[in-house]
Amino acid sequence: MTHTKSEQLFSRAQRRIPGGVNSPVRAFRSVGGNPPFIERGDGARIVDADGNQYLDYVGSWGPLLLGHRHPCIIAALERALESGTSFGAPTEREVELAERICEAVPSMEMVRLVNSGTEATMAAIRVARGFTGRSLAVKFEGCYHGHVDSLLVKAGSGMATLGIPDTQGVPKAFADTTIALPFNSAEAIEQAFRAHADEIAAVIVEPVVGNMGCVPPAPGFLTLLRETTERHGALLIFDEVMTGFRLAYGGAQQLFGIRPDLTTLGKVIGGGLPVGAYGGRADIMKKVAPLGPVYQAGTLSGNPLAVSAGLAMLDYLREHPEVYGELERKGMRLAATAPPGTTVNRAGSMFTFFFADQPVTDYESAKRSDATRFARFHRAMLDQGIYLPPSQFEAAFISAAHSEEDIARTAAAFKAWS
Ligand SMILES: *Cc1c(COP(=O)(O)O)cnc(C)c1O
Repeated sequence: MTHTKSEQLFSRAQRRIPGGVNSPVRAFRSVGGNPPFIERGDGARIVDADGNQYLDYVGSWGPLLLGHRHPCIIAALERALESGTSFGAPTEREVELAERICEAVPSMEMVRLVNSGTEATMAAIRVARGFTGRSLAVKFEGCYHGHVDSLLVKAGSGMATLGIPDTQGVPKAFADTTIALPFNSAEAIEQAFRAHADEIAAVIVEPVVGNMGCVPPAPGFLTLLRETTERHGALLIFDEVMTGFRLAYGGAQQLFGIRPDLTTLGKVIGGGLPVGAYGGRADIMKKVAPLGPVYQAGTLSGNPLAVSAGLAMLDYLREHPEVYGELERKGMRLAATAPPGTTVNRAGSMFTFFFADQPVTDYESAKRSDATRFARFHRAMLDQGIYLPPSQFEAAFISAAHSEEDIARTAAAFKAWS
C-alpha cells in the first residue's frame, strides 16, 4: 500500500490548516503515521487518494448508518438540489423531519433543528438553565458533548485521544458551572446532589457512551439519573447525538425505557449532512425563542439539502426496521473475534476493543488501556484495508452496508492479529 499522494496532501494541509485537519482526531496523532486522504466512498468502502481501498468502520464518525452514497439519500439530495440550497425561511421538509423525529422519540414533544451536535448540546444546556433558573450542569468524565465551552471539562473523544485534560480558552468561571463525575457511579451522583441540590439545572449524559470508546451504562444507572433529577427539579438530558437512530429507531432511551426531559441528536439524523436537533418536553421547549425568552438561532438551520438527506435516512429506517437486528448480529459476530488481551465493549453496531485486561466501565478504566498496543493493532488493520477509528477512545461503527462477507473478512483479520 503506498500513500504518496496522501502524504503530499497532508504536507500541504499542515501549512494552512492547524494540524492539517478540520477536526483533531482525524490526524492519527495517537496511532502514529499520517491519515490517508479519502477520495470517495461507496457502501461500506472508502478509497484514498492513492487508490487504496478500505472497509470503513468509522462511517464519518457515526452518521453513515446506511454506508456511503446510499441510493435513497443521493436521490433525495438530487431532488432537493433542483429547488434551491437555502432560503432562510420555513420549508415543508423541516416540518416533516421534526414530525418524524418526534414520532420516533416520544419524549421529544417539540424539536428545534440546528447544524451540529455541538449546537444541539449547547442549546439544550442553555434551555435547561433558562427553564430551571439554575446554573450548574452535571456531566460525566469521558463523555463528549461537542466543543461547548462549559462542557469541555474532562471530555472524551479528541481530548482523551490527545491527552488534553482541560482545554485552554475556557474561562474558569465557565468551567466552574460544570460538575464532572465518574460515569456509572451512583455514589458520585448522590453526593453531587447532596452538595448542590438547588443549583443543578441539568444532568447531561451519553446514555451509552461512545466517546471514551464504547461504555454501556451499568444496570440501574440511567434509572438512578432519572429518579434523582426528578426528585431535585433538575432536568435529565440524554445526549443521543451518537446513539439516536443507531442503537434503535427510538435511540438508547427506547432500549432502556427511560424518558429524559431533553434529548440532543445529530449524526444519523443528517444522513451524512450537517444536522443536529434538540427537543423534549413541550413546557420546556416553549421557553425557546420566539415562543420564549431563551435565545437560539441559525442562518442555515433546517437547511433544505441537509434536511432532505436526514428525512431520507429516517424514512428508510422506518420502512426497514430489520436493519437494527442485522446490525446487532454483525456487531455480535465482530465482538466475538476480539484479539487476545482485549476487553470488548459493545452496544448494537458500536464497539471498542480496549487493550486492557480489566472491565472498562468509566473513564479511569478506559485510560488504563495500552495505547501502544492499540496503535500497533490499528496500523496492522489499516495495512489490511480495515479502517478503524484512529483512537482507543472512539467507538467503531458497523453500517447496514457491511455485507456478511465484509464482516467475515474483518473478523478473520481481528482473529489473526496478536
Ligand atoms: C459527535 C458528538 C457530539 C458533537 O457533535 P458534532 O456534530 O461533532 O458537533 C456531541 N455529543 C455526542 C454524544 C457526540 O457523539
